[in-house]
Amino acid sequence: MQQTKILLDEHEIPTHWYNVVADMPNPPSAPLGPDGQPISPAMMQAIFPDNIIEQEMSAQRWIEIPAEVRQALTMWRPAPLFRAHRLEAALGTPAKIFYKYEGVSPAGSHKLNSAVAQAYYNREAGIRRLTTETGAGQWGSSLALAGQMFGIDIRIYMVNVSYQQKPFRRSMMQTWGAEVLASPTHLTEFGRKILAEDPNSPGSLGIAISEAVEEAASRADTKYSLGSVLNHVLLHQTVIGLEAKKQLEKIGEYPDMVFAPCGGGSNFGGLAFPFLADNAAGKKVRLVAVEPTSCPSLTRGHYAYDFGDSAGMTPLTLQYTLGHDFMPPSIHAGGLRYHGASALVSQLYHEKLIEAVAVPQVATFDAGVQFARAEGIIPAPESCHAIRAVLDEALRCKASGEPKTLLFNLSGHGHFDMAAYDKYFAGKLEDYDYPQEAIEAALERLPKVK
Ligand SMILES: *Cc1c(COP(=O)(O)O)cnc(C)c1O
Repeated sequence: MQQTKILLDEHEIPTHWYNVVADMPNPPSAPLGPDGQPISPAMMQAIFPDNIIEQEMSAQRWIEIPAEVRQALTMWRPAPLFRAHRLEAALGTPAKIFYKYEGVSPAGSHKLNSAVAQAYYNREAGIRRLTTETGAGQWGSSLALAGQMFGIDIRIYMVNVSYQQKPFRRSMMQTWGAEVLASPTHLTEFGRKILAEDPNSPGSLGIAISEAVEEAASRADTKYSLGSVLNHVLLHQTVIGLEAKKQLEKIGEYPDMVFAPCGGGSNFGGLAFPFLADNAAGKKVRLVAVEPTSCPSLTRGHYAYDFGDSAGMTPLTLQYTLGHDFMPPSIHAGGLRYHGASALVSQLYHEKLIEAVAVPQVATFDAGVQFARAEGIIPAPESCHAIRAVLDEALRCKASGEPKTLLFNLSGHGHFDMAAYDKYFAGKLEDYDYPQEAIEAALERLPKVK
């Protein structure tokens, strides 16, 4: 019988996270404060506890996963790796297609991997309350559950349009005990400012981040937690790639190409960085981040210092950005609607150690539906982006007869995104190409750094 599912035992959950900083040819760019000078840890202490700041700045290659975090991870890890035999047959491709499935977490995506670690470190630092933002709700639901597991109260600023469109994600967060607010709110200065300009503001991830950061910075008992972008979040996600490598090794396979959807960059970094370590040691595996054509930060953005939020309250990081005031078109892959990208992913892309492609919305759903019909699992709209790129590569292999080995991250399931699938079946989904004028205009509004 052909082997379809490659599993690991509980004791094979990684004992350490892998820190890509140790293997980067150049040190990572330093975040800057409002004065254009590198920020000191002290400036981050208003919103993060010391143990997280230490991780954020660390260049140590292997960082031990605390026993309690590993214990929490056993709830859904190790995650399975699948060989997509039925999809390969449907495509008639000589390529071998493997996928790591992160939808097995109770929250339905990879985001819980970092949520449990962040909740743990905050509890260790004596913090009892966290604020955060969420777009489609995947990060909010993950932190809600992690807060429940580690005894921390969670307040979530949820992008208003998603709050209205995704009532079940909201109910999930409430089930796990979190407080959920539609952002912009009247509770923060920045929220009030936005509402004064537009009482019906749909909100954006950038605005919600500003509100969550503003509240955390103004209260001594509260810190802030971010679900992507930052170095420590990508670090926590490396359990994905470390497990996948071990699983492939068990069956004597190694990928030629690795794909993951890319919003802030956490699941891409999580899967790809452990393979980048192999490239540093002489291997040649191509690592491809896949983003929407409607929000093409890596493929069309500027490589510049920019804020992580809309209000300009976060430190400036060197990143591929569409401008911090970017209002993304309302595509259904909510997790990919972010103006920028992780500094680590951006730098590695700039130095040509990783690749990026952008794919249009309708084609991602074509791919997701084809995948679901072959493999059974209904993918999250974000994950459909990676699937699109993998199908395109598998079809190129079919044309050329090249039997490449392809690996991708199925970052989450789409059970809470069926309204988007409904629209796809009704022919109501559109493709958006982000206009060149808007990209050029954003350049004018980037913060000026000497
Ligand atoms: C949030 C999310 C993403 C994108 O976020 P990254 O930080 O880039 O990983 C991708 N897939 C799913 C299922 C998500 O929830």
